[in-house]
Amino acid sequence: MQIQAAVIRETDGPFLIEDVELDDPGPGEVRVEIHAVGVCHTDIAIQHQWMPVPLPLVLGHEGSGIVESVGEGVTKVKAGDRVALTYGFCGACPTCSADRPAYCYEFAPRNVSGGRPDGTNALHGVNGFFFSQSSFATYAIATELNTVKLADDDDLLIAGPLGCGIQTGAGTVLNKLQPREGQSIAVFGVGAVGLSAIMAAKVAGASPIVAVDLNPGRLELALELGATHTVNPDEVDDVVVAIQGITGAGADFAVETTAVEQVATQAINALAPLGTCAILGLGPAGTNVTVDMTALLIPGRTVVGVVEGDSVPDEFIPRLAQLYKDGRFPYDRLIKVYDFQDINQAVADAEAGTTLKAVLRVK
Ligand SMILES: [Zn+2]
Ligand SMILES: [Zn+2]
Repeated sequence: MQIQAAVIRETDGPFLIEDVELDDPGPGEVRVEIHAVGVCHTDIAIQHQWMPVPLPLVLGHEGSGIVESVGEGVTKVKAGDRVALTYGFCGACPTCSADRPAYCYEFAPRNVSGGRPDGTNALHGVNGFFFSQSSFATYAIATELNTVKLADDDDLLIAGPLGCGIQTGAGTVLNKLQPREGQSIAVFGVGAVGLSAIMAAKVAGASPIVAVDLNPGRLELALELGATHTVNPDEVDDVVVAIQGITGAGADFAVETTAVEQVATQAINALAPLGTCAILGLGPAGTNVTVDMTALLIPGRTVVGVVEGDSVPDEFIPRLAQLYKDGRFPYDRLIKVYDFQDINQAVADAEAGTTLKAVLRVK
């Protein structure tokens, strides 16, 4: 079928909306009419080729919409179902079998190879299958595995970001760190991912919840969404000391979303004994975390990478959607909606930080 897709043709180049041919869904695949799609930091990272994915390429990995048709063997969804799309995984490797699909052994071929794991592509003339979807387009082909069924009362316009950016922050707290009531957490960088972590920390009953950011407007919003304290590095002599002043011995948990080397070091050094720092930020290749080995050893600290909030999407995305409907996870506060044609403005605003979570209205 003929579709429209936003194509990146060169490194740092603009998104060009072009007519492209899309195949029928193959075995185990689902073709989705995209209604909306979020813009995530990873789309921008690939536009800059911080992580090389072959160009020309259709990005987009927070799609939501209605199933148009399904391929052979698909049983989870059928035409007409309302769905959100998430990251790709194989469902069969050791980590997938252990219900940890975010660490799928085939993560790279299924998300950032520019095509299916076997090297084929459903799009003609451009690379795709980005996060098993390439949803900056009017239609996308996903797999049954990374298609998540939504409830009738879920809003398709805002459901897509649950599939990546929002679950990355919220899942890190609710699935991976799992703070007990009254344990402290510091979140470094309060963009869409960090603010999702803060809303989730409030759901978990963590306290205090410290937001760390240079942007006063974002710190203000963090307080409205659940942070109990804020630290602006421009306004304190030492961020670690400031966090110790709020938490006592340091934070039981830290969430690092900035991918800035010095910030990651601060996040680790701000931990209480036995504290855990989750590293979420994706920076250019060669971004290193430097930490004094003794500062890890003596307090028994843990540093752990967390991908996609360690979520099992079929369980966690409906859980977040329900928390939203219950008024406990107001992630719509982060969203600004743009028309699909204005994708370059949406990306520019996301990159400038003036928009926390851009969502493109495709239909
Ligand atoms: Zn797997
Ligand atoms: Zn993403």
